[in-house]
Amino acid sequence: MDIKTTADKIQNGDRRALARAITLVESTRAQDRAAAAALLAELGTHRQALRIGLSGTPGVGKSTFIERFGMMLTAQGLRVAVLAVDPSSTRSGGSILGDKTRMDLLSRDPNAFIRPSPSQTQLGGVARRTREAIALCEAAGFDIVLVETVGVGQSETAVAEMSDLFLLLLAPAGGDELQGVKRGIMETCDMILVNKADGDLKPQAMRTCADYASALHLMRKRPQDPPDFPKAVAVSALEDHGIAAAWDEMQALATWRKDSGIWDARRTEQARFWFHEEVRAGLLAQLTSDSAVQAQLNALENDVALGKTRPGQAAETLITQFFPRNR
Ligand code: GDP
Repeated sequence: MDIKTTADKIQNGDRRALARAITLVESTRAQDRAAAAALLAELGTHRQALRIGLSGTPGVGKSTFIERFGMMLTAQGLRVAVLAVDPSSTRSGGSILGDKTRMDLLSRDPNAFIRPSPSQTQLGGVARRTREAIALCEAAGFDIVLVETVGVGQSETAVAEMSDLFLLLLAPAGGDELQGVKRGIMETCDMILVNKADGDLKPQAMRTCADYASALHLMRKRPQDPPDFPKAVAVSALEDHGIAAAWDEMQALATWRKDSGIWDARRTEQARFWFHEEVRAGLLAQLTSDSAVQAQLNALENDVALGKTRPGQAAETLITQFFPRNR
């Protein structure tokens, strides 16, 4: 692959080149990794999009919402990319998110780009691959990059850490189900969208929305954000209700953060966070790629399991071999 030519094509909006580049960053082969790194370096970071993370359990209406929301944005002349993070696909044996057939209209919209999640064999690289795919979409000139994730495990936290705005999509629920949403996620989200506020479900959706609004209100305030954020709003993806209002809220928050400097500070903080994550992951990968180290790691793990040594002590035994202490 010629890096310069591919970079030019991506920057000129060539969708096939973009799709191929995403496949490249998804690859774990050493040769592909090197090419991906060179391509990302060539593309630089001068084009940036509004990065929106969207989390919600299967069935809550994510694809219905994204289709409506995406169509509304492209109708406003914005270019929208949709990426999916799906750590569960190894178990289900294939892609369950970002499935093109589920976003039929949007997938045929020339101003939209939908990338289904790859079936992943390796969990560790999910965050990096997604960040690199975001970078590629930004280089391709997309105004909005929407990253969709199912609300399970670490993918949710990872997506929150790579988004400018993080949304949680919920279904109408009975009062006591409120506890089902992890507190940490409620604290990181900027908006809760209670979907399916239509038909028979509407009264229940409005109650759920009010419940979440008061729960959010009681939580730790973010002094840097407008006093009414994070907020809960009711929407109906099916009937296309409340989505434009939700977008207005998102833009209001984005503008506030840009004006107050929070926007840049947040991105800087995220860059630092990912740098440390990469160092951690990289060191660990280096360690475990060495068979002698791996054998020792297994032996120490065994000792820890048998209670022969404490976890901290075992870890130190291993680590001091590489970084001897000055005593
Ligand atoms: P996902 O798994 O989160 O992507 O959810 P889907 O978008 O596939 O939606 C799951 C089901 O909920 C489908 O049968 C949708 O038609 C339905 N659904 C989605 N949004 C709404 C909504 O706003 N109102 C109602 N009543 N049903 C909805």
